Amino acid sequence: MQEELFHTEYTTETFVQVLIPLAIPKPLTYYVPENLIKDIKFGQRVEVPFGKTKLYSAVVIRVVNSKPEGVKIRPIISIIDEKPIITTEQVKLWEWISDYYCCTMGEVLQAALPANLKLSSETVLVLSPLFDEDYDGLTDKEFMITEALSIQNEISIDNIRKILSQKTVYPIINSLIEKRIVYLKAEMKEKYKPKKIGCVRFAEKYVTDPESLHEAFDLCSKSSRQTEALMGYIVLSKDKPFVQKTELYKKANVDSSVLNAMQKKGIFEIYEREISRLGTYEDDIQDMFTLDEQQIRALSEIKTHFETKNTVLLHGVTGSGKTRVYIDLIEEAIKNGEQVLYLLPEVALTAQIISRLQKVFGDEIATYHHKLNNHERVEVWNAVSEGKSVVLGPRSAMFLPYRNLKWVIIDEEHDSSFKQNDPAPRYHGRDAAIYMAYVYGAKTLLGTATPALETYYNAKKGKYGLVNMPKRYGDIAMPEISVVDAKTEKQQRKLQSHFTTQLLDTMGKVLERGEQIILFQNRRGYAPALRCQSCAWTQECKHCDVTLTYHKFKHNLQCHYCGYQAPLTKLCPNCGDIDLRLQGFGTEKIEDELKIYLPDAKIARMDYDTVRSKNAHSKLINDFEEKRIDILVGTQMVTKGLDFENVSLVGIISADQLLRFPDFRASERGFQLMTQVAGRAGRKKKQGRVLIQAMDVAHPVLREVIDNDYQEFYAREIMERNAFKYPPYARLIKLQLKHKKADVLNHGAKIFGDYLVTALGKRVQGPAVPHVGRVRNYYILDFMIKLEMDMNVVNHAKRVIRESIVKLSQEAGYTTIRVNVDVDPV
Ligand code: ADP
Ligand code: ZN
Ligand code: ZN
Repeated sequence: MQEELFHTEYTTETFVQVLIPLAIPKPLTYYVPENLIKDIKFGQRVEVPFGKTKLYSAVVIRVVNSKPEGVKIRPIISIIDEKPIITTEQVKLWEWISDYYCCTMGEVLQAALPANLKLSSETVLVLSPLFDEDYDGLTDKEFMITEALSIQNEISIDNIRKILSQKTVYPIINSLIEKRIVYLKAEMKEKYKPKKIGCVRFAEKYVTDPESLHEAFDLCSKSSRQTEALMGYIVLSKDKPFVQKTELYKKANVDSSVLNAMQKKGIFEIYEREISRLGTYEDDIQDMFTLDEQQIRALSEIKTHFETKNTVLLHGVTGSGKTRVYIDLIEEAIKNGEQVLYLLPEVALTAQIISRLQKVFGDEIATYHHKLNNHERVEVWNAVSEGKSVVLGPRSAMFLPYRNLKWVIIDEEHDSSFKQNDPAPRYHGRDAAIYMAYVYGAKTLLGTATPALETYYNAKKGKYGLVNMPKRYGDIAMPEISVVDAKTEKQQRKLQSHFTTQLLDTMGKVLERGEQIILFQNRRGYAPALRCQSCAWTQECKHCDVTLTYHKFKHNLQCHYCGYQAPLTKLCPNCGDIDLRLQGFGTEKIEDELKIYLPDAKIARMDYDTVRSKNAHSKLINDFEEKRIDILVGTQMVTKGLDFENVSLVGIISADQLLRFPDFRASERGFQLMTQVAGRAGRKKKQGRVLIQAMDVAHPVLREVIDNDYQEFYAREIMERNAFKYPPYARLIKLQLKHKKADVLNHGAKIFGDYLVTALGKRVQGPAVPHVGRVRNYYILDFMIKLEMDMNVVNHAKRVIRESIVKLSQEAGYTTIRVNVDVDPV
């Protein structure tokens, strides 16, 4: 069998170019055996041999009749899909990403395809725990696999081939996956949902005639458990569209025998409910608000711009009602049977937006996010391919197979979490989506209160249309922002831990009025360093070059890069002194100390540590919305798109921490963050207040934030970028070299640097040790390549980079150095 599988004599003149989800530089060519020629099509997955023994599912991106010169060609083994699973537009997008971001097509494919569409010999399959031994409708072969799995628990695809003693198994496996009888093992760690859930409802009689409910109580009067169940049901059904059996078990502390008895008495009906994995929206759809004047104008300007431009920037202050404008565009597309992609920086943090859109569009919206399991991902994939109107998601949602895409809406376009840092493709969701829209012939709307400098630059130059919404919806004034001089208070010894008297006093008054507060602190944890007062020793991570952060809740020190944890030491291991002190502060300390000054306030914290568990994030938002929390302390998470009615004060604990960062984007980030978090204040009723504590009160960005003057900020910042030749006046490519041995890395980086400098001269900076020089035991050296904005120069540089990486990988002694390319780093 092996021989036949891997022989290289082709017998036909039909070839396919395919992609495998591996970091291989080019598409691979295979020939199509006689018996498969009539069925082979672009976009199908096929099963191909790769390497000595492996088989992969590959995607056909071209069917050609000319054979490539000088390479041995092997046959495809089978065709997996009847119909193409991808579109030509998708391939164009992949090619662009691979080209622009200097990575392989395989890496792009890896990011673009849901796991269930990627199979290899090593893929391990397991039986669905929900499989109910219903073998009807299975073919003989499917039956054999299913049976084998019920005995052996897990089997690799390679072994399935042996069990069936045939080489073509992918189509059979694919069919079992589609029927949800078989899962990829990798997925079983994830949560999966059943297709049906058991539910309870009142029998017809009690639904049509609620008056007769007392009869039901009479019927149960002899059984306290049945009475409990009845009351439990009534409570649950009040705020739920349907009641699950399991929910009622919990609520009323009963079991199935109780419900069955009540079904017999004709009180309840027990039934199965089909649940869509795409999530069904059960509440009533709300009517839309009418647009106000500003929104009407913005909408008409957007449309006018779209007549001549592919991309429009909607620059609307926080609370101006941009979402309502998007809603109008979406509605129009739905009416015309067209599709909309709505991209958000981080779906996990934008539950509020999702529910707002669902209230208007209900099930027309599919969300594509990291919490979906593999089956659900494929379901969204198929739904989009069949024309699903609206997709809401993070950057990866651009990879779905759209058919009739009309708009791409990129909300909070300035947000740096649109950029994928690791692994490759290191693409920017906004920039790639603009290209993607172009490929599909769609238009892109970028929305934000604080445009990225590059975006505004493009708008100013006329490349993008520009539409302004300078006022808040409902004529609410922009918040009143002031800077509080923390330095003077510190000198006068008035500063109480990290709080100025002005901030504490104002908070007190706000709480007295029953209003709410958001406090923003950029760092999580309690204190970012433990330092010896006599010799300045600090406790560092074993695996990374960073100080460990103290977490009070766990009473230990943690590395924010690799997760390493260590106990607190009492003695300095360097000099033996006992005077070790915690330095600096994070959200946990702010929350903790606030309790001392405002003992009666209900304080909660929203950061990476508190939202890790499932639903914790939406619970916090809910609690805050429903005023079970007075003060919400948090990191960047509290800045993102939240819309609360009753927040009248926002406090920023330390502007200096934001602005002092050694990065050319520090001012931009600082301006955006402060403006965004300030925008959470006073959104609905009356003007809000913002207090920014700073040591360096003279920083120009503070003035610009206070005046809410984006123009001024832009004018100053763009001059600096021009003067020092940073984006948008130059293109940056960061190269990161990593190795476990410092000396190998040092020498390798020198050799690599020589290649680069020979070809690119002064454009090359480095190698330099980055801010954190070692992470997870890998030493790191960075090169920064600064290129003039000239297509020829940029393309030449990318070629040089690719070639240099190949050369280094062939240099004896340095083959194991990893080189990561990051085009347009953020
Ligand atoms: P942005 O996204 O621009 O910060 P939002 O879209 O969140 O602003 O709108 C701010 C607030 O104003 C929201 O609470 C929203 O419900 C409300 N709002 C916006 N437009 C309208 C409208 N046309 N009618 C009623 N309320 C609106
Ligand atoms: Zn010491
Ligand atoms: Zn670490």
